[in-house]
Amino acid sequence: MADDTGTPQRVEALETILVEKGYVEPAALDAIAEIYEDVGPKNGAKVVARCWVDAAYRERLLTDATSAIAELGFGGRQGEHMVAVENTPEVHHLIVCTLCSCYPWPVLGLPPAWYKSPAYRSRAVIDPRGLLADFGVTLAESQRIEVHDSTAEIRYLVVPMRPPGTEGWLEDKLAELVARDSMIGTGLPRVP
Ligand code: FE
Repeated sequence: MADDTGTPQRVEALETILVEKGYVEPAALDAIAEIYEDVGPKNGAKVVARCWVDAAYRERLLTDATSAIAELGFGGRQGEHMVAVENTPEVHHLIVCTLCSCYPWPVLGLPPAWYKSPAYRSRAVIDPRGLLADFGVTLAESQRIEVHDSTAEIRYLVVPMRPPGTEGWLEDKLAELVARDSMIGTGLPRVP
């Protein structure tokens, strides 16, 4: 199904033409995509780490995520209407786009292939706990799962729980624990 902007389709079509005509090497384009996939989640990780160390920032992030994220210099297309949801011992948040593949590019980069798969999009709704088990995430039975459906209007960022044993850590070091999946809800931060 088409992305709400049609951008990935346009990019793909353009890429095909450029490669066919010999203007660019497919390998070079793949490298660019990989860089973007890598850089994007690092932005999100900075937001999460700031949230963990700065109570006032956390408050702003949970109240108005778009402007709190912009404070760190991240924003723009596909990140205009951000909502941050915070995991707690009581609730674990999981993000899906049941319609297509809406995703917050400025803080997470490009969506992984599985995020766009029909299997992920349906199972996240029908059996979120089973889906999390497939991703290697086992939650306490007492932790309920809240599933959020991304749209063109709202994009979500999950703030995972700060791992134990990280007291006194600086932001940069904390951010290294926060991988992409933990900000979608299909993963947890690394525990040192
Ligand atoms: Fe979508």
